[in-house]
Amino acid sequence: MNNYMEKSEENVLHTYNRFPVVLDYGKGVHLYDTEGKEYLDFAAGIAVFALGYANETYNNALKGQIDKLIHTSNLYYNVPMACAAEKLVKASGMDKVFFTNSGTEAIEGAIKVARKYAYLKDHSNDHEIIAMNHSFHGRSLGALSVTGNTHYQDPFKPLIGGIKFADFNDLESVKAQITDKTCAIIMETVQGEGGIYPASREFLSGVRQLCDAHDILLILDEIQCGMGRTGHLFAWQDYGVKPDVMTCAKALGCGVPVGAFVLNKKTAEHSLVPGDHGTTYGGNPLACQAVSTVFDIFEEQKIVEHVQKLTPYLEKKLDELVENYDCFTTRRGKGFMQGLVTEGKPVGEIVNKALANGLLVISAGQDVLRLVPPLVIEEKDIDEMIEKLKASLA
Ligand SMILES: *Cc1c(COP(=O)(O)O)cnc(C)c1O
Repeated sequence: MNNYMEKSEENVLHTYNRFPVVLDYGKGVHLYDTEGKEYLDFAAGIAVFALGYANETYNNALKGQIDKLIHTSNLYYNVPMACAAEKLVKASGMDKVFFTNSGTEAIEGAIKVARKYAYLKDHSNDHEIIAMNHSFHGRSLGALSVTGNTHYQDPFKPLIGGIKFADFNDLESVKAQITDKTCAIIMETVQGEGGIYPASREFLSGVRQLCDAHDILLILDEIQCGMGRTGHLFAWQDYGVKPDVMTCAKALGCGVPVGAFVLNKKTAEHSLVPGDHGTTYGGNPLACQAVSTVFDIFEEQKIVEHVQKLTPYLEKKLDELVENYDCFTTRRGKGFMQGLVTEGKPVGEIVNKALANGLLVISAGQDVLRLVPPLVIEEKDIDEMIEKLKASLA
């Protein structure tokens, strides 16, 4: 492993402090390093690999597509894009999809949609977007501008203008930022990176009402919490509200780089037109074959129902852990997106010990241990995770 780690550090720009492990292959919910050591994966490549590793249906669909056609550009139609878009529209009950290559690009598109929507109303260029403190929306400059984390932002200023910040789950603080120039409110339905904070029902429906009252677009970032992770295909489906614009990525392609922004009818009809937006790779046949197959497998294997069914067991086991170990103060989360709060204690140390014990977990923010396993885990995997976590805490 040392050889590959050295080679990487010699040649890859050092923007990540990587864990000292070289992962080689995966099977189900386990990963193996180049020396054959097994790891139970409760990180899923940061909430990406929902179906587990070496899923035969998924892999065969991609292999078949590779032999047929990998790329065409967006100048022509292709079969997988037609199928993937239809499934995403149907599953979300929204109207139109634009495929991207990543989450941050989906956010860029959503911001452009909001600005164009407002521009078409008054032809001015001074529109504002309200974003949330402690949010995370990505690393490109537009997405970074709506990411409520000064540590990520400061070296890269000036960012895009017209962004205001409010407090998540505090409706009054959102109201205080609204002006007649506000064109959008953007938030994660469940904050991920910022520490696993689900939106409260009152907050999300309150924001929806504010948006309706002022013709402001509600952009919900479902990049991490979407695709079944919370026990609903999209987390907002549990709240009785609908976004005007939704962003997806991470588990959308379950490992193939792909994202999307999805628009309701109103925004689809009053925003981007030919010439406004594009991408060479976006929605290419290989990526869209992945998306299309993911939706098929979700349906066949009843993935969302499985998450719903197993969530009480996972929550019970985690609550027991919080009760018995004073390094954890609380548990937060929904479905298979859970955080154990360490309140000031170094969560990195737990993550490192877990790795040594053959368990992959990650942190969220400074003091939250984040659990975002593949959605196909079973009770026995939860038991194994608890065992390994206990050994690490000891
Ligand atoms: C990961 C993430 C992004 C950025 O996605 P990338 O594919 O890394 O660009 C945006 N929003 C949320 C909520 C995320 O978790």
